[in-house]
Amino acid sequence: MFDRIVTPFVIACVASAGILAATDGIAIAQTPAAAASSPLPPPKPPMTEQEKEKTLTAKQLFGAVQLPSIGKAVSIGHYHRGCLAAGVEFPVNGPTWQVMRLSRNRNWGHPSLINFLEKFAPAAAKATGWNGILVGDLAQPRGGPSPSDHASHQTGLDVDIWFMPMPDRVLTKEERDTISAINLVSDDWKGLNPETWTPQHVAFIKTAAQQPEVQRVLVNAAIKKELCRVEKNRPHAWLAKVRPWYKHHDHIHVRLKCPSNSPNCQAQEPVRGDDGCGAKDLDFWFSDKVLHPQTPSKPSKPPKPMMLADLPSVCKTVLEAPAKNTSLANDRR
Ligand SMILES: [Zn+2]
Repeated sequence: MFDRIVTPFVIACVASAGILAATDGIAIAQTPAAAASSPLPPPKPPMTEQEKEKTLTAKQLFGAVQLPSIGKAVSIGHYHRGCLAAGVEFPVNGPTWQVMRLSRNRNWGHPSLINFLEKFAPAAAKATGWNGILVGDLAQPRGGPSPSDHASHQTGLDVDIWFMPMPDRVLTKEERDTISAINLVSDDWKGLNPETWTPQHVAFIKTAAQQPEVQRVLVNAAIKKELCRVEKNRPHAWLAKVRPWYKHHDHIHVRLKCPSNSPNCQAQEPVRGDDGCGAKDLDFWFSDKVLHPQTPSKPSKPPKPMMLADLPSVCKTVLEAPAKNTSLANDRR
């Protein structure tokens, strides 16, 4: 499977070799004797698998894999440090959904996540009156850290779903890569944008949080505050699962509980029983520290990149396993 990883490096090497050759061409013309006595060094042998594991970061390794591994679908490790064996592809079009950002190849998940989406999409459409939902990233074919945007989404149990209705037509590949989701939050990040926020968004979030397999739903704090206001006098079991988190002003992030068939899946601690609407839960998110963070006087050291050895050891087996023979019904590449 490393063939798939080697290719970009080969291309990069060929490209830079071309630049060197052109530059050297001028030098050769001017000083042929010197050029003749200094032959080009022999090409570097390709990296061994061991060298790749030590040199490339986990996100480079997992981000380069196009297909899932063979075997039974299992979630391994933690949402932020794990992988996914035998990921299942979520179809890019359904009666009540369309998947966005197809070029990222992140519409793979544990079967429990695929089942959740197939159930949630029609339920959300019914609750909101929308045609359907727009689905963002799930996981990569073998999970693991992704090259951009997410710390989690590594075990095939996380999915982002946009805060906007599916249009009444099938979007083109290009539209799916370029359209932006709607921001529901005001410019000062303290409240909602009355031009984009609708009561349907309450129904949308509530429908997600009410599903029993859902562990958490992450939203921007201003959205959580509004849910607390409008649902104040109602039973709040679902509201406890909706937690504020950075960003999430244009999508919800749904996280499922560990599936029963995945003994190495590490669960996140369950949410507390209260609705999370108290000052102790919300005030922090509206503090200067969050809304107007100070730029540190000295640039901080970048965090150490996650390597394959930092993930559960079985993730190495998942990464190196042969690819599952999948029909890849959706032509995305
Ligand atoms: Zn997310």
